[in-house]
Amino acid sequence: MEEFAGPIIQVNGFVFCENHGDEWCHKCCYDHRMTNNIQIEDDLQDINDSMAYDIDDRGSFNVYAYGAVSAENKKNKFQCREHDKIDCKTCFDWIGFIKQQAKDAAGQEKWLTKRRKYYEAVEG
Ligand SMILES: [Zn+2]
Ligand SMILES: [Zn+2]
Repeated sequence: MEEFAGPIIQVNGFVFCENHGDEWCHKCCYDHRMTNNIQIEDDLQDINDSMAYDIDDRGSFNVYAYGAVSAENKKNKFQCREHDKIDCKTCFDWIGFIKQQAKDAAGQEKWLTKRRKYYEAVEG
């Protein structure tokens, strides 16, 4: 594990700033996205090919926004509010969320291209 100046927490394989729950924390000036992306590198192969989505500059997750709370009786472990499950694969499905982001980005790109073509056609 690398040395970080601020406290971090680990939830379902991803690291976040403990104080704010951010992957990319502006307040702490840490960007853990790169570290986290490396964890799931193999799962991201197909996403890396997408032009519409930059994995290094993807949307940062806030683990507390996804319902992470300290697990009772277990130090440094976090569970979800919904299922009381440590490292819940449903609530903290980072790979799934990233794939969804990529899909949205691709959809957005498609829509923009379509719109551009429309305006080009209209303006002749
Ligand atoms: Zn922070
Ligand atoms: Zn859950």
